[in-house]
Amino acid sequence: MEQECGVRVLCRFRPLNESEVRRGNKHSVSFRGSETVVLCSKPYVFDRVFPPNTTQEQVYDSSAKDTVRDVLGGYNGTIFTYGQTSSGKTHTMEGKLHDPQMMGIIPRIAHDIFNHIYSMQENLEFHIKVSYFEIYLEKIRDLLDVSKKNLPVHENKNRVPYVKGCTERFVSSPEEMMGVIDDGKANRHVAVTNMNEHSSRSHSIFLINIKQEHLDTAHKLTGKLYLVDLAGSEKVSKTGAAGAVLDEAKMINKSLSALGNVISALAEGIKTHVPYRDSKMTRILQDSLGGNCRTTIVICCSPSPFNEAETRSTLLFGQRAKSIRNTVCVNLELTAAEWKKKYDKEKQKGFHMKELIDKIQTELRQWRSGVCVPVMEEKQEELCELTKIVNGLASSTPALESCQPEKNISNLYKLLDDKDEEINLQTQLVEKLRLQMEVQEEFLASSQRDNARVQEELCSLHRETDDMRGEVKEVLSALEELALNCDRKSQQASNAKCTNHTLSEQLAVKNEMLGVTQRELAELQELSAVQTKRTVDILRVLLRDLTDMGSVITVHEISMVCEDDDDIDEGFSVVRLFLTKLKTELKSLIRRMKQLENAHEHTSVKILDNESELASCHRLVSQYQVKIKSLTECVHKAKEMKRTLEVTQRTLAEELTKLHTYESNQDVCELEKQKELLKITHLHQSQAALVGESQLKMLAQLREEFNNKQRVLDDLKEINENLVLEQKRQQCEYESLRIQEQKKEIQLQKLIVSNEKTEHTRDELGDFEETLARQLQALHNLRKTFVQDLTTRVKMSVTPDCEDGGSHMLHKHKLSFLENNLEQLTKVHKQLVRETADLRCELPKREKRLHAMMERVKALECALREAKQSASRERRLYQQEVDRIKDTIRAMNMACCGHAALINKSVRPGHHHTLPENPGRDGPAVYSYYHI
Ligand code: ADP
Ligand code: MG
Repeated sequence: MEQECGVRVLCRFRPLNESEVRRGNKHSVSFRGSETVVLCSKPYVFDRVFPPNTTQEQVYDSSAKDTVRDVLGGYNGTIFTYGQTSSGKTHTMEGKLHDPQMMGIIPRIAHDIFNHIYSMQENLEFHIKVSYFEIYLEKIRDLLDVSKKNLPVHENKNRVPYVKGCTERFVSSPEEMMGVIDDGKANRHVAVTNMNEHSSRSHSIFLINIKQEHLDTAHKLTGKLYLVDLAGSEKVSKTGAAGAVLDEAKMINKSLSALGNVISALAEGIKTHVPYRDSKMTRILQDSLGGNCRTTIVICCSPSPFNEAETRSTLLFGQRAKSIRNTVCVNLELTAAEWKKKYDKEKQKGFHMKELIDKIQTELRQWRSGVCVPVMEEKQEELCELTKIVNGLASSTPALESCQPEKNISNLYKLLDDKDEEINLQTQLVEKLRLQMEVQEEFLASSQRDNARVQEELCSLHRETDDMRGEVKEVLSALEELALNCDRKSQQASNAKCTNHTLSEQLAVKNEMLGVTQRELAELQELSAVQTKRTVDILRVLLRDLTDMGSVITVHEISMVCEDDDDIDEGFSVVRLFLTKLKTELKSLIRRMKQLENAHEHTSVKILDNESELASCHRLVSQYQVKIKSLTECVHKAKEMKRTLEVTQRTLAEELTKLHTYESNQDVCELEKQKELLKITHLHQSQAALVGESQLKMLAQLREEFNNKQRVLDDLKEINENLVLEQKRQQCEYESLRIQEQKKEIQLQKLIVSNEKTEHTRDELGDFEETLARQLQALHNLRKTFVQDLTTRVKMSVTPDCEDGGSHMLHKHKLSFLENNLEQLTKVHKQLVRETADLRCELPKREKRLHAMMERVKALECALREAKQSASRERRLYQQEVDRIKDTIRAMNMACCGHAALINKSVRPGHHHTLPENPGRDGPAVYSYYHI
């Protein structure tokens, strides 16, 4: 049962927010009653006006409570909020989701629906499913499945649009429904960076689908409830947006302006073409605006004077929307019997109509042939009935000829939808392909990288393989060697086995021997102790001797000899050390002695030389003494002669003086006498001078000779003295040396004696040591062989062949490990080569596929363009056709104006001139009737 109802418009004013209060803003609106708000002294009347202090519950009770009841009664319902950003749309629609006081319409509905259901009869079954999506930049994004980013809008068989493919979740409790809301909101938050910005630019739609079935009557009722939180309706200029944001804002505005246009068109009563298709949002709300839906619009406004312009435009929008009238009916699904009943009724109607048509046709024929046909009341009624039936049929029988343009339109819309869907699909495909391409490119890059890495690895593997081969060769050669060794060892083992028997036999003997040896050892040890004692004694004696000797030859280290009786080795070593020192000392003494002997010989030779020289010197001295004596005599003689001569000279001088005195007495003879005297004096003088001269000369010569001789004598004396001194010194030295030599000789004798003693002791000691060492060595060897034999026997008895096999096994194990490694590496190498080859093969194929896909996308885009063009062409043609039909009808109307009034009456007022958008309305039936 269809019924007409207007769109309810409620107006809510939010309180002034903090910043507005801080700015000192006052309310720019006043409220008159519960339905009127006055802005700039202009009243705006709505179904209800909520002042700022209205609670969420009051808003819910007035706006949504009835709608919930209607939806549960099988009607469709829509509640949407309109208004500028920050005007309280989301607050009204959602509020604080889990706060009982502040929760908005959606959470309250979630609870209310179930409260209603719980209070209903038990024989009703409900299926409630919800969807949650948003429209952002003309793309529908599923908020319950983030992978669905661009869902298409389709029409169902009743030409009602719906979002195809959006997630529908069945809910059976308010909590579940709230969970879905929470999920959707969380997804919405995840998808965007700035939630405030995003929510102000996107429309969010929460859809509740309720299906109820009466279990007894099998009656099914369905109801849809759209809860829409629209994007901010503010003007772009106010947001100060620019660039991409501006484009985005324009796009949002486009959808809002499309909403405005739809509402304007509906408000003006234009039903020919309501631009629902201009935006996805208007398409989804198509049924809510002018269709089968109880619609409530909550316009949200700000009371701040700053937002006055926006508030006015919002109020005007509300006013316009208020005049929209919807035709609602219960969405009842008929049962088979009901369908049958309806069919029979319609069939009956069809018969009746056929009769009527026949009647009318005869009348028409009469009328055309010029016969006046009276208009009778009865017929008028029939005609009205017929019109009604035709209208009804028009809705159910689209095959009628008059429905052709409508059909065309619907076909075209269908085509458009298909194309839309195809575009969507293609876009999704393109997106997917692009993603695939990116993935492929990444894969390719990574493959190339992998390839390079693999190549590198391959190279390194090759290298490693070569190395391994070398190693394997080495290992093989080592193995060969090992095998040989093994053979040898096995040979040895067999030999050892043979000998083992003998050894085991011997072992018994040895054991016995061991006992004997141990006994001997004990004896030997005793002996050794005695020997040691003896050695210690000897050593002590020796050390004492050595100490004595040391004191003799002033080697003080002897005092350092250890007095410890037990430390024989140390004593020996000290003695040895001391002996070596003594040896060196002796050697040096002997050397020194030899030197001294040589020096002695040399000195004695020298002494002899000196003695002979001394003798010759003595001789020379005596010669010189004799000579000196003779010369002294000669000197004495010369002195005497001189003295005599001097005496003679003095006597002569006295005679001369006497003569001088005589001369003074005698002049003449004096002269002669003087002359004679002079002559005589002169003669004497000359004689004396001559004698004196020769004597002086001789004297000087003698003196000189004497002096020389004296000097030589002095020298000789000196030399003699020196020689005597030297001789004495040499004598002394010789004496001391001789004493020293004697001492040394004594020492030597002593040393020789002690050396002999030491040698003797050493020999004795050496012999003893040798025997001891021999015995010890023998013992040691015996023990070693015994232990070895024992060990071998034990090993042989525990794990025969284990020792020989061990290293062999180890090598075998290593070899097998290396071989395994090599095998694995070869496998990996082969696999990598295969993979690389596969990838190389795959690459051109993928590229080809990509290319083909790109071409396909291009071709589809071209096809789409062409389809759009042809659609617009067809639409133009269709419009022309409609115009033509209109003209024809008008002409016909003019021609038979007498009947028009009659028909006009039967048509609902305001509907007969319009060409409605959808079939299923009354309008199209009118045209089909006129066409007939
Ligand atoms: P819109 O969705 O229109 O952009 P919001 O609903 O997000 O606006 O509201 C903006 C702010 O104003 C929020 O902080 C909200 O809590 C607050 N608000 C809106 N309406 C009311 C109201 N009626 N009462 C109290 N606070 C409100
Ligand atoms: Mg919001």
